[in-house]
Amino acid sequence: MDWLFKTDYFIPDDYQKTVYDIDYAKLRDQGVKLLLIDLDNTLISYDETEPSDKIFKLFDDLRKLGFKSMIISNNHKKRVSHFASALEVPFLASAKKPLKLGFKKVQAMNPDIEKHEICVIGDQFMTDVLGAKRMRYRVIVVNAIKRKAEKWFTRINRKLEKRVLLRMKKRNHSIYQQLNLDEKR
Ligand SMILES: [Mg+2]
Repeated sequence: MDWLFKTDYFIPDDYQKTVYDIDYAKLRDQGVKLLLIDLDNTLISYDETEPSDKIFKLFDDLRKLGFKSMIISNNHKKRVSHFASALEVPFLASAKKPLKLGFKKVQAMNPDIEKHEICVIGDQFMTDVLGAKRMRYRVIVVNAIKRKAEKWFTRINRKLEKRVLLRMKKRNHSIYQQLNLDEKR
């Protein structure tokens, strides 16, 4: 559990308000080929089930830019597969982020992709950021779409996230400021 105390495991490479604010062309130019995108509160809130037109367009644009995309979620298969199959993107449900197991499965599914070509996108420090950094992937954190419908274990993660952010503000102040993390919701 020593990773819980490693500050650098919680420092994302970028922070943007939403998935639509990310500069994907820049990411591609930096060599990223595979995007591992979280579902809940990153793409849709817990009380939604369907991808919106905006999400369809986003995934279309990502395809056109040459990315492979995958939905990687800790939620159950029924919810994740319903959403991912509508978009026609591969997925991994019950991914158990921040554990390495799910990410290792994803890498086995994409043997042509190397670690430095992978970028995780998600809304939680305790699952998405920590999981990605333990794997030495790039990670972009976004605001949670709607915090109200979060379950008890996510609420615990949010409490931990708050502490992680406070610690980063103290110990890694320049990165914290540079990434604008005061705005993270
Ligand atoms: Mg999430």
